[in-house]
Amino acid sequence: MRLSSDAKRDSWRTRELYEFLSLIVVGVCFWIIGDRLGLFAAASQFAVQRHLLNFVMLSVCMGGGVFVASVRKSLLLHKAMQARIEAETYAASMARHDALTGLANRRLFHETVEKALACRDPNFHFAVMLIDLDRFKPVNDVHGHAAGNAVLCAIAERLRRALTPDGVVARLGGDEFAAFVPYEADRDRLIRLAEQMIAAIRQPIPWNQGQVDVGATIGIALATDAASDPEMLLHAADVAMYQAKREGRGAVCFFQAEMSLALKARAKLEADLRQAITRREIVPFYQPIVALPGKELIGFEVLARWRHPNDGLITPDKFIPVAEETGMIADLFYGLLRQACSDASAWPAHLQLAVNISPQQVQDQQLAERILQILSETGFSPARLEVEVTETALINDLGAARAALTALQNVGVKIALDDFGTGYSSLYHLRELRFNKIKIDRSYISSLKEGSERTKLVDAIIQLGSSLSLQTTAEGIETPSSLDWLSDQGCNFGQGYLFGQAMPKAAAEDFLKAGKGRAGLGRPPQDESQAAA
Ligand code: C2E
Ligand code: MG
Ligand code: MG
Repeated sequence: MRLSSDAKRDSWRTRELYEFLSLIVVGVCFWIIGDRLGLFAAASQFAVQRHLLNFVMLSVCMGGGVFVASVRKSLLLHKAMQARIEAETYAASMARHDALTGLANRRLFHETVEKALACRDPNFHFAVMLIDLDRFKPVNDVHGHAAGNAVLCAIAERLRRALTPDGVVARLGGDEFAAFVPYEADRDRLIRLAEQMIAAIRQPIPWNQGQVDVGATIGIALATDAASDPEMLLHAADVAMYQAKREGRGAVCFFQAEMSLALKARAKLEADLRQAITRREIVPFYQPIVALPGKELIGFEVLARWRHPNDGLITPDKFIPVAEETGMIADLFYGLLRQACSDASAWPAHLQLAVNISPQQVQDQQLAERILQILSETGFSPARLEVEVTETALINDLGAARAALTALQNVGVKIALDDFGTGYSSLYHLRELRFNKIKIDRSYISSLKEGSERTKLVDAIIQLGSSLSLQTTAEGIETPSSLDWLSDQGCNFGQGYLFGQAMPKAAAEDFLKAGKGRAGLGRPPQDESQAAA
């Protein structure tokens, strides 16, 4: 790099010298031509000697050459300076603007907010809006980056048009925009503006003879709320935006101080959970599953529990959704499966394990391979494993789900459709995928009453299962009367507090030793936290 710039400088100097000498030679030529044509004769009357005249005229011609060279040089210099000023202005503008959309970038946005904060005029109010696009990723994935860029440019233009000239719209990066909005102590105006922006963004964007649709969610922070610096204001708007997303995409939400606390708590939960997975604090608990009507133990459902060093035993509803949202669910699941398989490989060989997988895991093309790897590492037979999926897992990409589940079934793993009756289109999925079992959700079982609508539905589900050659498990059996009724209807398996709650490994082994597969009836539900102690 350095070599090439040195070489450039040398060649530029050589060219300069060459041009300078050429113009002097041109001057000398003028003198020769002038002398030959006698153009200097008029001046000879002032000359005392001819050779002095020759010398003066030669000097004048050469001087003329030098003069022309200098004028040319200064013109060139002026042009170069002009180009440099333009380049500097352009570079300064590029450093403050987004190259794709031409909007202000984060730096210019910061400077704008900083200036507004510094003005300290009590009559001047402004808000920062954070605008996050919904469904933008699928546009990029499905239609390609060119479509993504076209969407960003179209939205930039719509946002620019929505704001008054004293506002500033910026693209902070990716699909995240921000707006600096001065207002006159009227929060309703801000809401109206945000809603107008969302409506403008929702208008279809033409692409390749078709159209693409995106939406937006907006968080608003008022300058008085949060902040003495732009970063804090943006953070507050970001917090409000996440709250708005939680309330449903396409919403608008103002920042409130409590949101920050909730966000901090969530960030701590995420960090703790990440550590918990590596420290193996997430452990398998085992809930018995029995065959009906004989109540013989046929296996256990593996249910995750977090043995928190300070907070005790934490149930999955507190951490599984966080693990799913943050992508930690795969590591959590594989750790749990490994532990459960190695626990259960010492148990009688007819006992099965049922494990739950989350919707996004079904989209993972390596799911079957990784499960099989763990089975072979722990020596647990695939024929003893059952994987439970919910219908949510099948909605996103049925093709991917079919591939993953069929790969598992091909090696002998059974697949159950969990929480049956709570999803969207149960019958459609029963037709599309080859399940081995359906698990009737406990919300149906807990309210079984002779002749009630729910009871009729449960009966219909059991009949449906039997006509499709699917086994049925009823979850959440708590009373002997429910058990009897389900057995009479031909339900194949039962699970619920009547037979035992989810318990840790040691308790499950005591359960096995005591031969409680048939004996749990009539016992009051065992308290999980006592069992865990
Ligand atoms: P699920 O798979 O439907 O599991 C059954 C849930 O019902 C368990 O709750 C179990 O303790 C509870 N249950 C069983 N019998 C009864 C009963 O008689 N009465 C009542 N009231 N409840 C009963 P748990 O352990 O809190 O798990 C809740 C959900 O969390 C599970 O529902 C499952 O969807 C999810 N989950 C648990 N472990 C995992 C895991 O390792 N991975 C994934 N992805 N999800 C998991
Ligand atoms: Mg389950
Ligand atoms: Mg269930």
